[in-house]
Amino acid sequence: MSNMMKALVKAKAEPGIWMEEVPVPEPGPSDVLIKIRKTAICGTDVHIHNWDEWAQATIPVPMVVGHEFCGEIVDTGAAATKYDRGLRVSGEGHIVCGACRNCRAGRGHLCRNTQGVGVNRPGAFAEYLCIPEHNVFVLPDDVPDEIAAIFDPFGNAVHTALSFDLVGEDVLVTGAGPIGIMGALVAKEVGARKVVITDINPTRLALAKKMGIDYVVDARTQDLTDVMAEIGMKEGFDVGLEMSGAAPAFRDMIDVMNNGGKIAILGIAPAAFEIDWNKVIFKMLNLKGIYGREMFETWYKMTTLVQGRLDLTPLITHRLGIDDYAQGFEVMCAGEAGKVVMDWE
Ligand code: NAD
Ligand code: ZN
Repeated sequence: MSNMMKALVKAKAEPGIWMEEVPVPEPGPSDVLIKIRKTAICGTDVHIHNWDEWAQATIPVPMVVGHEFCGEIVDTGAAATKYDRGLRVSGEGHIVCGACRNCRAGRGHLCRNTQGVGVNRPGAFAEYLCIPEHNVFVLPDDVPDEIAAIFDPFGNAVHTALSFDLVGEDVLVTGAGPIGIMGALVAKEVGARKVVITDINPTRLALAKKMGIDYVVDARTQDLTDVMAEIGMKEGFDVGLEMSGAAPAFRDMIDVMNNGGKIAILGIAPAAFEIDWNKVIFKMLNLKGIYGREMFETWYKMTTLVQGRLDLTPLITHRLGIDDYAQGFEVMCAGEAGKVVMDWE
């Protein structure tokens, strides 16, 4: 093995992303080294590519980016004894401290010292990735590489969707990006009554329809109260999954929730925004913020979902060799893609 590798690097403090040769990371005592097979592009990578305010404030330059991946363990540190070389794995991209109160209580997803792979430390858009052994998730043979490569965002969807009981409930999903679509599919799969999804991008609305979500609403032209009447809903939505990060979507959602409704909020807004808190109070809504995945409950649940009837394959709209990465970022930036999976082999 050469000690240099190909990687996609945020090399300069300006828009763009660059393929460079960088040293292969050295696993520390508790780390594993993973040879990457496939990676997928996240909205976060698009922010880093575009070098927006959030990226400028967060990403040290230079930095190997990316955190959605699947690969194979090829080396282990001296104290990393749980997993053998040759295992096919994905991994949790949030690296937690293990020492704070929540970590000690087994609630790693609530760690206050979380570090992000490809955000605060070198990422997965590379031939090799080094992560703590603790973060490894071993893949069953029947989960294909390209599905494993999107487990990270699928985990966001599963964590959000399973935050509240959905059986027999009417569910509104705002935002038909990849995560919104996956969230709506999970809601359907676990027994929701009506699942409605909204977006303002025709490509995304068409993809949601193609993936089999029953009620797909164009928020630019359709009123949710009309949609509710059409589909036989009398009172309001029981559960909301906010997956757009758009203020108008969140405000519309609050308007159509039933009293006592529950909203799980995953979408990240570009800037702080106002909502009418009196509506939250008089409707007695229950709001829950979601960050990442539950470690590692979400990973087990998502594995079971894809081993069952849930087929995420049509969500992958682009499959590219890694040398065509620029094309992948282009379609992601244009909102023309579902998931873009890049092959490193
Ligand atoms: P995405 O940007 O692909 O999807 C968001 C969708 O919302 C887009 O299709 C957009 O057209 C749509 N939208 C915009 N305005 C709307 C409106 N008024 N009504 C309805 N839809 C509208 O993002 P994604 O990858 O699917 O992720 C979903 C959200 O979750 C993003 O905001 C992302 O930043 C966030 N996210 C959060 C976490 C977390 O841990 N909290 C993790 C990953 C992603
Ligand atoms: Zn912690």
